[in-house]
Amino acid sequence: MRVERIAVLGAGIMGRGIAYAAAIAGFDTTLYDVSGEALARAEDEIRKLVDKGVEAGKVDAAAARALRLATVRELEAAVAKADLVIEAAPEDIRLKLDLFARLDRATKPEAILATNTSSLSVTEMAAATARAPRVVGMHFFNPVHRMRLIEIVRALETDADTVKTAEDVSRRLGKETVVVNESPGFITTRVNALIGNEAFRMLQEGVAPPEDIDKALKLGLNHPMGPFELVDLVGLDTRLSILSFLSQTLGERFRPVPLMVQYVKAGRLGRKTGKGVYDYVDGKPVPRGTASLSAMEAR
Ligand code: NAD
Repeated sequence: MRVERIAVLGAGIMGRGIAYAAAIAGFDTTLYDVSGEALARAEDEIRKLVDKGVEAGKVDAAAARALRLATVRELEAAVAKADLVIEAAPEDIRLKLDLFARLDRATKPEAILATNTSSLSVTEMAAATARAPRVVGMHFFNPVHRMRLIEIVRALETDADTVKTAEDVSRRLGKETVVVNESPGFITTRVNALIGNEAFRMLQEGVAPPEDIDKALKLGLNHPMGPFELVDLVGLDTRLSILSFLSQTLGERFRPVPLMVQYVKAGRLGRKTGKGVYDYVDGKPVPRGTASLSAMEAR
């Protein structure tokens, strides 16, 4: 199937990144969110990304002017003409099941429904529709415009044409792919969740401060980012949902470390709330509890 129109659901960290990548690649793109504020912020961020891309010579100026990207607050209007819908709403299975049931009614029968879930069952989402063969996982990485992989998740009943179409769209987005048979957390989330949880366990045990744990993994193990830098980018709430699901499905070794649960309760969700494992001053990480000090020094 040839995809020309893409609808993205959820204009958060991932949805706006996916919408940007789709629009830049020339797809006619619609971005939907329940929150007008999220949509306005996404428009703003996407515009900045486009401008930066043009400045850096990575985005063609003519292509930037010809961008087809609409933001929409009504689900049915957002998806009616889409050939492919990519769902990037919060990591909550009830919410996603409800969305997939609505999508099934609101889209063309031949449209492919994809989810960007990091861990949940694509098969379960497919079962909420009457088109299970055309439901697939397309797991993007954060930040979408920089990360090169899309993990394509084949659910129990996903058909070969749907996998091929997802691979084809991924290529047009400039991404590499791996196809995985559905299992909790696929490849990347499963490994990453364990590393991130273990880092929190070390922090809880007082093994070393976060900056040193990050430094050790970057310089000693050649990770491009430390586990705390990464979780602040991903969102601690998102990571907590993932770990809760993986501990239910894969076992005790994924049980979320209490310190992470406490951070989430404190509203330390990462960069998106301005504080996570680190505090953020002008977008730059500083050790927790020193942000007000830095603000005083700046005066
Ligand atoms: P986010 O919290 O940044 O954004 C979620 C957005 O969905 C918000 O703007 C919210 O207003 C919107 N929303 C809430 N209810 C909705 C509904 N019913 N319909 C449409 N939109 C709705 O979350 P995120 O980090 O972008 O994560 C989105 C999905 O992508 C999750 O499934 C997550 O597991 C997955 N994911 C996240 C990352 C990451 O690094 N954050 C990476 C890969 C995959």
